[in-house]
Amino acid sequence: MPQEDAPDPSHAAFDCFVQAQTCKDVLQSFSALCRLLDVDPQDHRCFYPKLKERLNYWKAKALWAKLDKRAAHPDYGQGQACVGNKCLVLGAGPCGLRTSIELALLGAKVVLLEKRETFSRNNVLHLWPYTIHDLRGLAAKKFYGRFCSGSLDHISIRQLQLILLKVVLLLGVEVHIGVEYKGLVEPQSNGKEITGWRAQLSPVDHPAGSFQFDVLISAGGGRFVPAGFRRKELRGKLAIGITANFINHHTATEAQVAEISGVARIYNQKFFQDLHTETGIDLENIVYYKDDTHYFVMTAKKKSLLNTGVLKQDHSNAETLLSPANVDQEALLRYAHDAAHFSTGRRLPHLEFACDHTGRPDVAVFDFTCMYRAENASMVRERRGKKLLVGLVGDCLVEPFWPLGTGVARGFLAAFDAAWMVRRWGLGANPVDVLAERESVYQLLSQTTPENTSKNYNAYSINPTTRYPNINLGSIKASQVTALWLIAMAMVFISDSFGRYEDLLSWCQNQTAGYKGVAVTDLTESWRSGLALCALIHHFRPKLIDFDSLDKHNSAHNNQLAFDVAEKELGISPIMSGGDMLAQGQPDRLSMVLYLTQLYNSFMGTAP
Ligand code: FAD
Repeated sequence: MPQEDAPDPSHAAFDCFVQAQTCKDVLQSFSALCRLLDVDPQDHRCFYPKLKERLNYWKAKALWAKLDKRAAHPDYGQGQACVGNKCLVLGAGPCGLRTSIELALLGAKVVLLEKRETFSRNNVLHLWPYTIHDLRGLAAKKFYGRFCSGSLDHISIRQLQLILLKVVLLLGVEVHIGVEYKGLVEPQSNGKEITGWRAQLSPVDHPAGSFQFDVLISAGGGRFVPAGFRRKELRGKLAIGITANFINHHTATEAQVAEISGVARIYNQKFFQDLHTETGIDLENIVYYKDDTHYFVMTAKKKSLLNTGVLKQDHSNAETLLSPANVDQEALLRYAHDAAHFSTGRRLPHLEFACDHTGRPDVAVFDFTCMYRAENASMVRERRGKKLLVGLVGDCLVEPFWPLGTGVARGFLAAFDAAWMVRRWGLGANPVDVLAERESVYQLLSQTTPENTSKNYNAYSINPTTRYPNINLGSIKASQVTALWLIAMAMVFISDSFGRYEDLLSWCQNQTAGYKGVAVTDLTESWRSGLALCALIHHFRPKLIDFDSLDKHNSAHNNQLAFDVAEKELGISPIMSGGDMLAQGQPDRLSMVLYLTQLYNSFMGTAP
């Protein structure tokens, strides 16, 4: 009998990696595979080609074929478009992971930080058709056989994270789990050279703290937005969301129970009336998806939550209303259970709660009343001549309304848009042009739906024109975004050590000393009359303003004059009108710092 070849241990290790079902197992099996094949994941440029070369059997080859097809897209410039860029991505939620994949395909060195130790979210995400197509192209089915089989269009957050984590690792992204990003460390001068931007981390001595980067992508979820970005609150009518996960035993009976891909009150009055009559539960809508768990998300009416004892007391403030102290957990479990039981026609035999990462029943109540949206998607910081491009993606850019399933769909669109921005950055475009284009694209994000985005999924790439029909990449002009560069610089002054903020103040004091009616003691109130601004400009360019003719009581005129002259002669956009300076309680500190910083930059090196 011919002797069978001994099984190749790397094939078994690869199988382990592909099948791994926890974040820890993925990372451990990946390390084991790399050790066996003697490939160094830190060597991001050569890692993937070496891995392919050394793991060259049918199962692995099927995966490489998928990834190679993707990597061959011209947008990536054969993996050279961002070969000189170093990107820090914070947050290994679906959007941080998805962005990391694109940055790696562009050839950048990517380090990804995640503060949690586990991927434990059972909740299920609705996928738009393009996301399913996109994930299939990343070999999702090879990592998770049940991925969107048949007409399924959803996946649990943790499964999605596991799939994307595996792809990220194969593409040479450096992943650190259990590491929290705390803030930026500015470039420092050590006498000989200036270091790059770095991150302040917890644990403080983590090696990733020495990584120097020129791109920071924040994908930290709804609650995490890096310093410098402002958020708009979108406040709607009170909407209380409840999510509940029950164990899926994967029996034939369970398999037969139909999913509810979204039923809203206006479309099925009878269903909701019957539910209310029989159980006292009053809902606006409900969704049921079958995945690793039986997952339900519903928006409940406040009155029924009070009547059924879920909410102990009524409060007009949504935060107090839904605070843990005001929620009766037992009543909440009953409410979620009964809603699930009724809406599935009582056909799910054992509605037993699945556990969350703390071991408690996985039921939660959320406030959808107010959601946040970042005012801008991007920013450039500059310090000691080192520029840093900062971008937001996912929930920290636009918080989704879960029952509509917009989260990961818009999240991935933003991930591609952010990657396109990094591509232009890597190719050396002017920073304000990069920002202007990114902000032009961002304007569309909140209106995107499966209907108004391109249906040609095969053509989707990081280039926004492949996804958004009729997009105008130049709708925002470079002149409108200079502030995103400069605000970041002003933020440096503000958030900085007292010393540098003081530098700006003392510079202003020195230049305006001796001017009649001017006494600069701060960066707000002292500027109200407009005389200080006029004095500052007069000091450097005396011909532009007739200072002696100014009346200190005519603040609106003085401020307007300074703004107009600075705009016309120095190209500095006004921060507000002269009248606005009076209308406000006092000039806004951030705006003043920004404006004065621009004057400083303009006059720096100019002899008066
Ligand atoms: P997230 O998935 O929130 O990921 C952000 C990641 O960043 C997290 O893993 C977080 O630990 C990490 N992070 C945050 N700050 C730091 C830091 N400083 N340093 C390092 N890492 C950091 N959507 C639905 O459609 N249906 C649902 O039922 C649903 N349930 C949800 C339940 C919870 C608890 C949360 C938080 C979100 C839920 N969402 C739900 C929203 C959905 O998860 C997101 O839209 C989707 O996951 C894409 O989000 P993301 O990647 O931008 O952020």
